[in-house]
Amino acid sequence: MAKYIFVTGGVVSSLGKGISASSIAKLLQARGLKVTMVKCDPYINVDPGTMNPYQHGEVFVTEDGAEADLDLGHYERFLNIDMHRTNNFTAGQVYETVISKERRGEFLGNTVQVIPHITDEIKRRFRYPSKGVDVVLIEIGGTVGDIESLPFLEAARQHALEVGKENVLFVHVTLIPYIRASEELKTKPTQHSVGKLREIGLNPDILICRSEKPLTPEIRAKIAMFTSVHKEAVIEAPDVGTIYEVPVVFKKQGVDEQVLMLLRQRASTKNFDGWTKLVERIKNPSEEVTIALAGKYTELKDAYKSVHEALLHGGLAHNARVKIEYVDTGAPDLDAKLAEADGVLVPGGFGDRGIDGKLAAIRIARESEIPYFGLCLGMQIAVIEFARNVLKLEGANSTEFDKETRYPVIDLLPEQKGIEDKGATMRLGSYACELKKGSLAAACYKATKIDERHRHRYEFNNKFRKLIEDSGLLVTGRFVEKDLAEIVELKDHPWFLASQFHPEFKSRPEAPHPLFASFIAAAIKRARGSGRSRSEAYARG
Ligand code: GLN
Repeated sequence: MAKYIFVTGGVVSSLGKGISASSIAKLLQARGLKVTMVKCDPYINVDPGTMNPYQHGEVFVTEDGAEADLDLGHYERFLNIDMHRTNNFTAGQVYETVISKERRGEFLGNTVQVIPHITDEIKRRFRYPSKGVDVVLIEIGGTVGDIESLPFLEAARQHALEVGKENVLFVHVTLIPYIRASEELKTKPTQHSVGKLREIGLNPDILICRSEKPLTPEIRAKIAMFTSVHKEAVIEAPDVGTIYEVPVVFKKQGVDEQVLMLLRQRASTKNFDGWTKLVERIKNPSEEVTIALAGKYTELKDAYKSVHEALLHGGLAHNARVKIEYVDTGAPDLDAKLAEADGVLVPGGFGDRGIDGKLAAIRIARESEIPYFGLCLGMQIAVIEFARNVLKLEGANSTEFDKETRYPVIDLLPEQKGIEDKGATMRLGSYACELKKGSLAAACYKATKIDERHRHRYEFNNKFRKLIEDSGLLVTGRFVEKDLAEIVELKDHPWFLASQFHPEFKSRPEAPHPLFASFIAAAIKRARGSGRSRSEAYARG
C-alpha cells in the first residue's frame, strides 16, 4: 500500500509550497522510491483553463490534455516524470462529480452534505493515483484557516484514520518572519497556524520554515516546543538562488531520513550526486546571455513559469546563465532594447492586447537577424508579421483579432467555429508532429517524429501556405493526420523558429528541451560575436 504525505501551508500564501513538496518528493525518488504527486485546489473553477494568469499564474498542460495548476509543472520538472489529469483536482471538480451523482439518484434519497459526500469524493481522488507507487505527496492549495480548504483538510484527517496514522505524514510549510526593528525572528504566526491545524484534528510531523535569516538553535527549540514537532523535524528553508537547490538544502538537514523514519518506510541509499552536480552547474555558469521576452503579462512572472524555466534549462545545456528581460513592446525605443538582447521570444497568449508591439519585436528580430523563438501565439504573430511585411498582404491577421480581415493567415478550423463553451474546448494535450528532413527543427530534435503539447484554438491557414513558403517562411513540422502546421522556420536567418505547440511544458533540468537548448546556443553565438564579448566580461565578473 502507498504511503501518503500531505503538504499544507500556513501564515501567508506564496511560500513556495509546491517547491517544498517537489523537493521532498525528489529526495524520496532519489532514495529509489516510486513517487507521485497530487495538487488539490480549493477553488470552484473546474480547472484553471478559464482563469486569467494574473490570478493563478500560468495554466500548465499535461500530456493527456488537462489544463492544470502550475505546480504540476514543478512536479514534472523536479521529478522528471509526466503528470496526468488525475494529479490535479479542484473543489469545482469534486462538486461537479457529487452533484451529477445526486442528479442520477445515486445517493438513494439521502441528504447530500459536505461530510461525508464531498469529503468521500476528495478521499477517492487522493487515492486514485496511488496504484503502483510507494509514496503519494498531496499538496493542499490555499492557506490553513481559509474556509475553502476546510473540506480538503477534513478529508485528509479522515484518510489518515482510514489508512492508519503510520502511513500518513503531515508537512506544514510556514513563515518565520524577521522583524528588522527588533532584529528578531518571530514564531508566533507559526504557533497560530499550527494551532489552526490542531483545531481540525491535524498535527504536523514536519515543519518547513521559510525565513530570511537562519533559525538559531533557540528559535528551533521554541518552535519545536510550541508546536509539538521534534527539533530535527523543524526544517529551515532559506531563500536560495535557484529553486533546484531546495532539495539539496533539505537533504543537508536530513529531511529524507525524517520522512522515512516517520513513515516507517524502507529505502535504498541511492546517491544524490547527480542532482547536486546539476545545481552546482546552475550556480556556476561560464557565460551569460540575455533573452528579451515580449509578452503581455510582464508584471507577473508566474504567468510564464514554464517558459522561464525552459529558458534556464536551455542555458544549463551550455553552461550559460540566461537573463530574461521582460520587455514592454509598447516602448518607443524597442529597437535599441532588442538590439541589446541575444534572442527574442514571444510566448503564448490570448486576446489582442499588445499584438502590435509583438509584431514590431518580431520584425526587428527577423530583419536584424536576432535569434527568434515563437511559442503558440508567438508563431501565429510571426506568420502575420511575415504576411504583412514580406508578402505585403495589408491587414493580414488572425481572425482572433480581426474577424473581417481579407487575409486570415491564422484562422479557426471548422470544428472550432461552433464551440460556445470556453472550458476545455481548445486543442489540448499531446499531438504527433512530423518534421521535415534537413530542417532546423529536425536538427534540434535529432528526430523526425516528435510529440508536443498544445493549448490553442486557432491554426495556421493552409490556404496561404504556398505563398508563405515560396517567400521563405517554411512549414517544417506538421500534424499529418489533419495537415496542420506545427512549426515554421525562416530560411536565411541565424535562428528563427516558431511552434504552434508549447515546448516549454516538456523541458526539465535533467532533460533540457532541444528547441530551447538550440535557441540558447544561437543566442550565445550572437553574444560572442557581438563584439561585447560577454563571455569574457562575464568570466571576469
Ligand atoms: N490565442 C491563440 C489561440 O487560441 C494562441 C493561444 C496560445 O498562445 N496558447 O490559438
